[in-house]
Amino acid sequence: MEIVVSGIRPTGNLHLGNYFGAVKNFLRLQDEYNCFFFIADWHSLTTHPHPGDVKVNVRKILAEYLACGIDPFKSAIYMQSDIKEILELYLYLNMNAYLGELQRVTSFKEKARKQPENVNAGLLTYPTLMAADILIHRADKVPVGKDQEQNMEMARKFARRFNMIYGVDFFPEPQSYSFGGDAIKVPGLDGTGKMGKSEGNAIYLIDDAVTIRKKVMKAVTDSGPVEPNSEKPEAIANLFAMLKIVSSTDTYDYFNEKYNTCQVRYGDLKKQLAEDIINFTSPIRERILDFSANIEYMDKVAHEGAEKARESAEKTIREVRKIIGF
Ligand code: AMP
Repeated sequence: MEIVVSGIRPTGNLHLGNYFGAVKNFLRLQDEYNCFFFIADWHSLTTHPHPGDVKVNVRKILAEYLACGIDPFKSAIYMQSDIKEILELYLYLNMNAYLGELQRVTSFKEKARKQPENVNAGLLTYPTLMAADILIHRADKVPVGKDQEQNMEMARKFARRFNMIYGVDFFPEPQSYSFGGDAIKVPGLDGTGKMGKSEGNAIYLIDDAVTIRKKVMKAVTDSGPVEPNSEKPEAIANLFAMLKIVSSTDTYDYFNEKYNTCQVRYGDLKKQLAEDIINFTSPIRERILDFSANIEYMDKVAHEGAEKARESAEKTIREVRKIIGF
């Protein structure tokens, strides 16, 4: 079975954008592939040297992913820092990674610009650590967004280079896995752009009904169409895009028809949208709360995920040592 590896940033709660843009696709992947989902706690040190209580944060993330339906029986879900073999591979890969190519990576340049007081070596070698995360399981596929394409190029380059230097055909070149037509962009409801934590417009899976109603009722609208069948400005198109994601086709068609005949009442639309979002998120929210209350279970999941991941990582690192000559 083909192997899929995907990293999860250990910051913040999951919002609707994360769910429909990423997690929902993971649910499908875990049925079709041998999946490794890891929480990238080492990576976060490149920008956040004080991660706080990592264990507590990890439980929070785990609870959310499990509540969404990630199944620890199907996939390995683990903390990066539980798999020390990744570090050993990171070291070997770094020995064949060159300053010039690392300095040319766009995300390095961007981060160096953003935090000029902390241009650390971890930041520079982010692509080698990411390559180690992937190659440690000799993964075939990595579901990533466009922003990770250059890092994926680097991972392929390091895999090829390792094979070439040691005259082996050991690491497959990991391919970016794109969800293609299934890739949904979840809009923000603040007029423009997408939903995101840093955009400050996110509706979180853990939000309660009151919070969700408040957020949706605040969504940006306009004074309504004056001509039938007119094109929707972005803020309105975003509201409809959200309806399409969480509401029934009937609901979408109803409000679309109202819009096209200039009879739409945004208040009604938002009320309906809020209730449909709540209907979708509230069972997930309940499961998050249940899982969160069960610390023992969370720790067991993390422990067993680490064991599964370590088994695969140890196998790779034993081979790598042999190939290099240790
Ligand atoms: P982030 O929380 O920004 O690190 O996002 C993690 C992943 O969630 C991204 O790589 C995307 O796959 C997905 N994602 C985040 N925001 C959105 C959005 N508004 N629409 C679709 N997918 C999203």
